Amino acid sequence: MIIDCHGHYTTSPRPHEGWRQQQIEAHAAGKPAPPRPTMTDDEIRETIEGGQLKVQRERGTDLTIFSPRAAGMGHHLGDATTSEAWAAACNELICRVCSLFPKNFVGVAMLPQSAGASPRNCLAEIDRCVNQYGFVGVNLNPDPSGGHWRDPPLSDRYWYPVYEKMVEHAIPAMVHVSASCNPTHHTTGSHYLNGDTAGFNQLMNSSVFKDFPTIKFIIPHGGGGVPYHWGRYRGLAQDAKLGLLSELMLNNVFFDTCVYHLPGQELLAKVIPVDNILFASEMIGAVRGVDPETGHHYDDTKRYIDQLPLSAADKGKIFEGNARRVYARLSAVIAKQSATAV
Ligand SMILES: [Zn+2]
Repeated sequence: MIIDCHGHYTTSPRPHEGWRQQQIEAHAAGKPAPPRPTMTDDEIRETIEGGQLKVQRERGTDLTIFSPRAAGMGHHLGDATTSEAWAAACNELICRVCSLFPKNFVGVAMLPQSAGASPRNCLAEIDRCVNQYGFVGVNLNPDPSGGHWRDPPLSDRYWYPVYEKMVEHAIPAMVHVSASCNPTHHTTGSHYLNGDTAGFNQLMNSSVFKDFPTIKFIIPHGGGGVPYHWGRYRGLAQDAKLGLLSELMLNNVFFDTCVYHLPGQELLAKVIPVDNILFASEMIGAVRGVDPETGHHYDDTKRYIDQLPLSAADKGKIFEGNARRVYARLSAVIAKQSATAV
């Protein structure tokens, strides 16, 4: 089985994103949000069958761990109340996709984070998504201010209520920022990769893994700048007398393969142990074009993994085994959802 651990509902029905626009406008005008639009199963089916499901089939992958559109989370917009309603709407839609395509999608939640608001706000939504929807993880935004980095770092006890909840449910978090509202940071070109790199470095300089020995984080987009600069982080850990970086981080931190060229994948697989690499493509996502050098989509990351000089057993870990281990609830959810499939 080939499990893509990083996909977003970037093709969601228009009324859904339209309502978000209305909600934010109503908030700015000091008015209540309009009622949420109704969307039929057929509307949802259409967006998936012509989108993510089609690409899964073309590329030979089986299952996507699926969450709401990341740039659309917009935790810097509105306030805690608007975030709560928006996260609920987005997660509900993911749940509907997983119910309609139970063999192809398993859900991950976006959180109702809001710049400056306590992450405690997120706990009820996590409970709902795990207990009622069968979701297997969350996306945790380390910068709800959208590119201004005004909230405390992930090392701070500020985040501990979310970490406690993650451990309680045995769910990992993908460290994933949303859109940038800071014009100095392009959303997918710099803010995403900065978020990955900063998140790793914040966790490295923390006692989070001492306090939560079983907690797990996925650093997406190939780990941002981290694998390329592994020597720097090893040296920083050494200078700060934190011990060996591998011992400090690799029981708890994992990297996905959203790296859009073969040399980057080669570096990732050379630097990071195969046990810490999870297959992912983030399709349909940030980079949608075809690479003229290869004739294939940049985000067709399975092709790069196929070309790596790794054993079949190691590729099996990257494609499936590691995801089942890191997302501890995944195997049970796959079994349960498959049983409901027609
Ligand atoms: Zn993403």
